[in-house]
Amino acid sequence: MGSVPVCAVCKGTGWKFVESEDRQAVTRCDCFQKDHLERLMQTANIPARYESCSFENFHAITPKLDLVKTLARRFVEDYPTVECGLLILGPCGVGKTHLAVSILKALIYKQDLEALFYDFRELLKRIQNSYNPISQTSEMQILEPVLNSEVLVLDDLGSERPTEWVRDTFAYILNSRYNQKLTTLITSNFDDHPKPFKTLSDGTRISSEESLEDRIGLRLRSRLYEMCKVIRIEGSDFRIDVKQAQYQF
Ligand SMILES: [Zn+2]
Repeated sequence: MGSVPVCAVCKGTGWKFVESEDRQAVTRCDCFQKDHLERLMQTANIPARYESCSFENFHAITPKLDLVKTLARRFVEDYPTVECGLLILGPCGVGKTHLAVSILKALIYKQDLEALFYDFRELLKRIQNSYNPISQTSEMQILEPVLNSEVLVLDDLGSERPTEWVRDTFAYILNSRYNQKLTTLITSNFDDHPKPFKTLSDGTRISSEESLEDRIGLRLRSRLYEMCKVIRIEGSDFRIDVKQAQYQF
């Protein structure tokens, strides 16, 4: 274990002396800041496939995406005086997770804060696996950081079939964070535009698409809108522009 090099500046204490005109003071050594940031990044639980995501490599190929990126950056600049979190809506593949991870990382670097990323389905699985049928409780070790982390990203909300248990669990997390005034960023493929209806041959009309409300229920949707400002990424624009960009090759 003796192979870890000790910082030459602070000799491993994490503090260094700074000389000002007539007095000596101590401040945190650069090595401490670096280790500290690395620890925060590790505990943030960002999946490997999104680890390198940042604002720098979020390519805003349309004016709309550029606006989305600007809003996200402003959110980081304004933090912690932001009124609420963000609900990032849009179809698969438009960069919602990339954007959420970029915000999360920028906040960690800028604000030195504890943040946490969870894929919604993965989180539910972990809570379920930790469930103890005897005590009828879930492992607080899993739940505690989700409830109390200063910033939480819940990725891909609605991906899991909305059983009562899923709704209860989500409500518990959301309400707990709401009461503590903690910032929550959520991404979802489900939007709540009025549902398009299909008319069957016998004249009955059925909904062909589920909305966010279908997935999480009216009450939770309302709470979500209280807690988050909506950023909507439109799929149609994105796809058209990707196609156009490809024509240039
Ligand atoms: Zn040092």
